[in-house]
Amino acid sequence: MQYTDLSTPTRTIMTPGPVEVDPRVLRAMSNPIVGQFDPSFTTIMNEVMDMLRILFQTKNQWAFPVDGTSRSGIEAVLCSVIEPGDTVLVPIFGRFGYLLTEICERYGANVHTIECEWGTVFEQTTINQKIDEIKPKIVAIVHGETSTGCMQPLDQIGKTCRDRDALLIVDAVASIGGVEMKVDEWMIDALIGGTQKCISVPSGLAPITYNDRVEAVIQARKKVERGISTEEDHQLDETRKHPYIKSNYFDISMLQDYWGPRRLNHHTEATSMLYALREGLRIILEEGLDQRFLRHLYHEKALITGLEAMGLSLFGDAQSKLPTVTCVEIPEGIDPESVRSMLLEQFGIEIAKSFGPLEGKIWRIGTMGYSCRKENILFLLGALEAVLLQHGAPIHIGKATVAALEYYTEQAAATVLSV
Ligand SMILES: *Cc1c(COP(=O)(O)O)cnc(C)c1O
Repeated sequence: MQYTDLSTPTRTIMTPGPVEVDPRVLRAMSNPIVGQFDPSFTTIMNEVMDMLRILFQTKNQWAFPVDGTSRSGIEAVLCSVIEPGDTVLVPIFGRFGYLLTEICERYGANVHTIECEWGTVFEQTTINQKIDEIKPKIVAIVHGETSTGCMQPLDQIGKTCRDRDALLIVDAVASIGGVEMKVDEWMIDALIGGTQKCISVPSGLAPITYNDRVEAVIQARKKVERGISTEEDHQLDETRKHPYIKSNYFDISMLQDYWGPRRLNHHTEATSMLYALREGLRIILEEGLDQRFLRHLYHEKALITGLEAMGLSLFGDAQSKLPTVTCVEIPEGIDPESVRSMLLEQFGIEIAKSFGPLEGKIWRIGTMGYSCRKENILFLLGALEAVLLQHGAPIHIGKATVAALEYYTEQAAATVLSV
C-alpha cells in the first residue's frame, strides 16, 4: 500500500490557531455516531447550548454552533441580518476588520469604515460619534484582532447602538474562552466565536449567540415555508418588504428551527465535532471562566517577561494588548521564515507569521486554551533563544527562560494559583 497509516507529528503549537487540543476532546470525538434526531443526540445539542450561554455570559435563547470554520458563523450572522442597501459601520484595526467589510459588501451593504493604525485600537467615543453621524443599521467589529495582537474595548458601544437602534455584531473568534466577554452586560446583539482558538477544539464549528433584536430582523426575512419552493412562493418572497435571506446554509432562521424545539431538518449536524465542542466546553466550565482568564494572563506575562529579557521588542500598544496573542518584532537582518522553519523542524514548535503591512516585520505567538501552559512557554523561550543565536541575532544570552522561570517561582510563592 502506497499510503501508510496516518501518523501526525506531535507539535507544540503556539500560533493564534489552530491550537493544541486537550486529549479529552480527542477521546470524546471517537465516540460512535448517533443519528441527528436521536434523543441522545438532541440532549447533547441542548447541553452544548446551555454551556455556550455560560461561556458567552448571556441569557439569550439562541446560542449554538454553525457548522464550518469561524467565518461561517460570521457569514451566517451577517447575511441573515443585512438587507441590500443597509448601512453598516465597520471600525477596522487589522486584517479581520477587512474580512467583515468584505462579507458585508457581498451581501449588498453600504459599508462605512473607519480605520486606526495597526497596533492600536479605537477610543470607544470615536466609534460612538461615528454611529451618531452615519446612523448605521449594524455595527460590525472585531474584539480580538489576531493580526495585530490588539483587543478593542467594547463595553461602551452597545448602549449607543441600542439608543440609535443599531445592532452590534462582534467577532470574538480569537478571544472567546481566553478573555472576558460579557454579551448581555456589554449589550452585544450578536457574537461569533471559533473553536480552534481559545476553546481548544479542532476547527470546524463557529459558536454564535444573538438576542431578540436580531431575531426580530431575521424572522421578518423568513422565507415562505412550504417545503420545496414553487413559482408562487418565489413571487410572494420577491414582493415582500424584507427580502428573504439569500443563503440556505447560513439562514439563521432555519438554523434556529433545527436547534430549537421545532427540530426542523436543515443540515446534518457535525456529530463528532459536536462531541468535541461539548467536551471542550465542559473543560472550560470545570476550570471556571475567571480562573481560565487569569491563566491566560498569567502565562502571557511569563512569555512577555522572557521575550523582553532576551532583548526582543513587542509590537503594538501595550495598553491594548490581546492577552492571547503576542506580537514580536523581528530583529533586523533576520530571515523570519528561516527562524520559523528551524523552530518547527528542530523543536516541533510552531509560531505564526503575519499579514499585510506587518508581513516580515513581526512574528505572532499564541497562548490560547490548551496550548497556554507553563511547559510550552518555557520550551518556546529556550528554543527561540537557540534558534535566534543560530541566526546571529543580537540577543541577551541565557536570560529568557530563567526570567520566565523566576516569574513562575515568584508567582507560585505569592499566590495559590495552581496553573
Ligand atoms: C481566526 C479568525 C477568524 C477566521 O476564522 P476561521 O476559522 O479561519 O474561519 C475570524 N476572525 C478572527 C478575529 C480570527 O482570529
